[in-house]
Amino acid sequence: MLVILLGPPGSGKGTQAVRVAQAKKLNHLSTGDLLREAVKHETDLGKKAKKFMDAGNLVPDELILGLIREKVGGNDGGYLFDGFPRTIPQAEGLDKMLQQIGTGIDFVIDLQVSDEEVMKRLMSRGRADDTEDVVRNRLQVYRKQTQPLQDYYQKKSLLKPVQGEGDIDEIFENILKLFQER
Ligand code: AMP
Repeated sequence: MLVILLGPPGSGKGTQAVRVAQAKKLNHLSTGDLLREAVKHETDLGKKAKKFMDAGNLVPDELILGLIREKVGGNDGGYLFDGFPRTIPQAEGLDKMLQQIGTGIDFVIDLQVSDEEVMKRLMSRGRADDTEDVVRNRLQVYRKQTQPLQDYYQKKSLLKPVQGEGDIDEIFENILKLFQER
């Protein structure tokens, strides 16, 4: 099984991803976590990715696709993708990869949170890459490069919207319901 969790920075994507992956026994694959790990250990990837991350820009698609290819080999159960894909070329790269393995995406969860709420949450989160300028840039990058994925997956009838504002447990339950609908 392969499920993608889509949502703006600050949508609670990461928090929900951890819980959903555990409940559904899926491998949680967060490109943000993997990249932060790579930066910490100063690997080749980390060294290349750092400047993009610090500015709130996206790391180049080839680097991300390489990372995903490395992780999604063999057939060791299902995956919950968190923070990937983030661009149309990444989504196309993923489709190609899956075609080669002979599998596909089950559905895409679109966690919906308003801009105001996102800004509020990000400014209070205090992560190193969460200064106001960087946060603003991250949101702009999201709108421009990642939001087109809603259309991309809508056209494939894979998109399932979920209200991302409100009680965390309730949002979690609403996400779990999507798994039952299938
Ligand atoms: P996140 O924790 O998902 O917000 O990711 C933190 C940062 O890592 C982002 O601001 C990007 O610089 C980078 N990043 C994570 N995932 C991707 C991706 N799929 N494509 C490009 N950059 C990414």
